Amino acid sequence: MMQKKAVLVIGSLNMDLVAAVEKLPAQGETVFGKTFSTFPGGKGANQAVAAAKLGVPVTMAGCLGQDGFAGDLIKSLTAAGIDTSCIRYTGTSTGTALITVGNEGMNTIVVIPGANACCNPGDVDRALAAFDQAGILVVQHEVPPQTVEYAIRTAKGKGWTVILNPAPARTIAPDVLALIDIITPNETEIASLTGCKADGKEAAVTAAGHLLAAGVGTVVVTLGAQGAVGCTGDAVIHVSACPVTAVDTTAAGDAYTGALAAALAEGKTLAEGMRFAAAVAALAVTKEGAQPALPWREEADAFIR
Ligand code: ADP
Repeated sequence: MMQKKAVLVIGSLNMDLVAAVEKLPAQGETVFGKTFSTFPGGKGANQAVAAAKLGVPVTMAGCLGQDGFAGDLIKSLTAAGIDTSCIRYTGTSTGTALITVGNEGMNTIVVIPGANACCNPGDVDRALAAFDQAGILVVQHEVPPQTVEYAIRTAKGKGWTVILNPAPARTIAPDVLALIDIITPNETEIASLTGCKADGKEAAVTAAGHLLAAGVGTVVVTLGAQGAVGCTGDAVIHVSACPVTAVDTTAAGDAYTGALAAALAEGKTLAEGMRFAAAVAALAVTKEGAQPALPWREEADAFIR
């Protein structure tokens, strides 16, 4: 078997602070909540944990504050086997997301980027310098755009494969788009990137065509319970979602991108990777929380069998 490539994730680390309430408070109103939970999150960290739990070597680069949340986030990464030596501690607070969930899943979310906003090109250089062989870079949109652009350009220049999960949606410079090997938007994100609705398979393929024309190598649009479509210059691959009872779909996209990166690091084809990612994401939505819900390799293999 070929040697597994390394995965480097450069991105956000957040602590999700979740209050469950009967009814969301109106402006100026105080309500009593039912429960309070904390979940390690952040799209970058979630994708790193997803890949690492599947057994590929993962390094995470990004920034934390010097507070209690930082320690808890590092613990979660370390438990998944991630190399955290490229994570930098800053003088500002660790990124947090304040989430209030009302009945029937209605929610309000306030994200405070905190240390994530400090992640800079120096962090990218330090992380890439730790490798003597090109691997797979995974980036998202929860650290500053200049940092993401710099990471893509620099990694690409060193022969790395670049995967961008363009979440949350924001504009991508045309010259940066052309450097991306694989982009993994959901329906909302590809609509915002291309101006085309992508509600369903066919619409997603049409929208993906715009990104291919802009120079992206492969576009994988995730369609929630409808699965995903993968489009390259000469093929369209549709992989259905695995039928499961969804409990919490919060980090489905993170599970999917992390698992796809892991599959490609093992030398799997795009179609094989998409099937593997669908299984991993399906397992992830059957449990609450982001990082704890991500399956280990044995669970993923047992589910696929
Ligand atoms: P995001 O979380 O970024 O919005 P999606 O909702 O598109 O991403 O989900 C990503 C992937 O997770 C889907 O392509 C699918 O494979 C899987 N998935 C999402 N929701 C479900 C579900 N209810 N049942 C099974 N798989 C799901």
